Amino acid sequence: MQNDDLEFINCANVLKAIGTDLTQPSRAQIAKHLGLSRTAVSMVVKKLMAAHLISELETEKSGRGRPGTPLVLDGTHWHAIGAAYSSKLWTFCVVNLNGEPLLTHKEYVETTDQDETVKALLQGLGHVESKVNKPLLPGYGIGSPGLIDPKSGTVFRADDMGWTKPLPLKQLVEEATGKKAYIINRYRANGVAELTFGGHDLTKNIIYLGVGTGIAGSVYLEGTLLNSTKYRFGHMVIDPHGPLCGCGQYGCLQAMASEKALLTYARKRMKEDSTFLTAYADQPITAKLLVDLAEGGDPHAQSCLSYIASALGIAILTLANVIAPDEIVIGGPIGDASTFLVDEVRKAAYAHLLDWQVSSLKISKGSQGDYGSVLGAAAFLLEQKMELLLGEGCPVIS
Ligand SMILES: [Zn+2]
Repeated sequence: MQNDDLEFINCANVLKAIGTDLTQPSRAQIAKHLGLSRTAVSMVVKKLMAAHLISELETEKSGRGRPGTPLVLDGTHWHAIGAAYSSKLWTFCVVNLNGEPLLTHKEYVETTDQDETVKALLQGLGHVESKVNKPLLPGYGIGSPGLIDPKSGTVFRADDMGWTKPLPLKQLVEEATGKKAYIINRYRANGVAELTFGGHDLTKNIIYLGVGTGIAGSVYLEGTLLNSTKYRFGHMVIDPHGPLCGCGQYGCLQAMASEKALLTYARKRMKEDSTFLTAYADQPITAKLLVDLAEGGDPHAQSCLSYIASALGIAILTLANVIAPDEIVIGGPIGDASTFLVDEVRKAAYAHLLDWQVSSLKISKGSQGDYGSVLGAAAFLLEQKMELLLGEGCPVIS
């Protein structure tokens, strides 16, 4: 291991000790927790305080032994800009390290054309930046549609946008702005927001499934995101005789439980049965309408959500048998909005699992709502704060 790497890791560990592992610890408590010398911890603390990442509380810790000054994260100094795309709309937000939004902004895009989409993104980033007079992390967190290479930040393809040629999004943003861009799938960003701000137990293994126009999932092992392009929950085959998916396979989870699957099922039932959702025959059926009706107790809308819940239940059965997570969160625009859906998914999954698997698997509803993706994109940038602010310049620890 390079010495620089070691210094960086020590800085990261001290920050994690203050933010997650310990409650308002003193320097001595951190030294004991990490097995480092007090001098080494004091040097790191000095560096982190100079970077406004941590601060001292004014009161001294009381109790036995020598009292020490309690240390806490400084959640209010630095701010991060996040952006996320959904349905011809870029949403932007500026948040502090506590995840509290300072402002939000929207930019509409007329088409799903790649150039127009990037143009609107750059316009929105410039606008938001001009409105903030707080210290900003020198970069952007961006929640994009599609399949993204985490290293190059290139969007390989996005079936629901009709993007079949690669879009070097990170490169385009960095060239235009001179700042670093961190690109993450928009549903994966929603998962980052859920895990960062949703009050989950980060010592556990958690899977997040975002359900919307597409389906994307994220795996968190003890709070760390497995950010690889090579796992694609939306394309788990649920039924090989099922509908054709944009990827070319039949019966993928995305083809059976996304917004399109929900609406296709509702329209099919309406065609077959003139009493089905009859009051809504003259208006466009949307996922939001079905979710709202189902939450209000409409049995027809509920049967549509139960249809996609059964496919999600089979997906969870497989995930539970392969990964055995402690918790699965059903989020995204549909999951976040529908308690009924999550109840149905729970029923469908538990029906297939053994009792001892059921007792150790919690299935919960996402909590981040409409701003989940953009908050997650900003949180994704916040995760890079050490690298952005300190680089490899942590003090030498001996
Ligand atoms: Zn597929």
